[in-house]
Amino acid sequence: MIQIYLDNAATTSPEPRVIQTMHEAMLQYFGNPSSIHQTGAAARDIIEDSRRQVAKLLKAEPSEIFFTSGATESINTIIEGAVKSLGIKHIISSEIEHPAVVEVVKKMKLLYDVHVSYIDFDEIGTLNLKTLRDLLQDKEHALVCLMHANNELGNLLPLKKVAEICKEKKAYFFSDTVQSIGKFDNDFSNCQLDFAVGSAHKFHGPKGVGFMFIRKGINISPYQNGGPQERNMRAGTENTIGIIGLAKALEISLQELHVHCDYIHNLKSHLKKRISEEISDAIFLGDSDGLYTILNIGMPKVSHNKMLIFNLDVEGIAVSGGSACSSGVLNVSHVIRALGKSEQYIPVRVSLSKNNTIDEIDKLVDLLKKY
Ligand code: PLP
Repeated sequence: MIQIYLDNAATTSPEPRVIQTMHEAMLQYFGNPSSIHQTGAAARDIIEDSRRQVAKLLKAEPSEIFFTSGATESINTIIEGAVKSLGIKHIISSEIEHPAVVEVVKKMKLLYDVHVSYIDFDEIGTLNLKTLRDLLQDKEHALVCLMHANNELGNLLPLKKVAEICKEKKAYFFSDTVQSIGKFDNDFSNCQLDFAVGSAHKFHGPKGVGFMFIRKGINISPYQNGGPQERNMRAGTENTIGIIGLAKALEISLQELHVHCDYIHNLKSHLKKRISEEISDAIFLGDSDGLYTILNIGMPKVSHNKMLIFNLDVEGIAVSGGSACSSGVLNVSHVIRALGKSEQYIPVRVSLSKNNTIDEIDKLVDLLKKY
């Protein structure tokens, strides 16, 4: 059975043109980019072409882009590297970040005795930026770790505003941009971010490849030790084919952004309208006006809908409602718990892509109405 796939914040299906490009590249660029012969040089050159391409698309400089195995590795490198190399003694973050950030921040506290402060937020997860300003002391170099688009709620952080506060208080600003890369006309030259990350499989590219953006002039130590790849920032033989796929996927996403953005916007509006009008006791978890690809629907808990996410799966619809623990029961995420809504509502996170249709949305709503 082909499922109606509405879980695009977890991962996206690879774009056929990306697969085609990678397929051709696999035969041509198999050399080790560190080898000095021509086969190696060809692989090295294509990686550098990809870096230039990614940098141009994000309006960054090629020297600011480092390829990695994905966002998790990039996040570990940035946060731990910043603590070790930039003398960070204070991290300011929030409790509704992705676990990749939450766990690394906790590790910094344990390993390096870094002081950690969390910004408060309201009932839909909007961060209180006044707290950020108050928490930033003038005489310290703090690291602010706040994500651009929340992967569960879709809430968007005003990047420029946060960057301005950080600049004023001389703090470094890292934003987990995983969910927004390829979905906006990102401009890294203008938004004053110090660090950002991306993962190709979130924008119809391959899995196991990503990048980190480190602003020019900032030097941090690498996360893993070994060879001098990625200008000493990421040891290990490069994933040449993945990098080519990442660059192609980003190029397609951004070149076709306006068409897909409007299209997905309409899908989300349709979903939102039908839920509001037809399931009166459902709520939206998070800011329903946030990222155009995500809508988290809180379905009221009743006696017969405990297995809602599994039932939707059986009916052929893939959405997310938390993560499954070993017994197969869904664990409510730390984000939904933090909003204080987990007792009364079952979260149904719908995350859309250019491949979804109005008909699919209608099928989902028709099914939800039965629960
Ligand atoms: N940050 C956010 C916001 C995410 O949504 C994800 C993936 O779900 C990650 C980080 C980690 O990405 P990856 O699993 O590709 O390393």
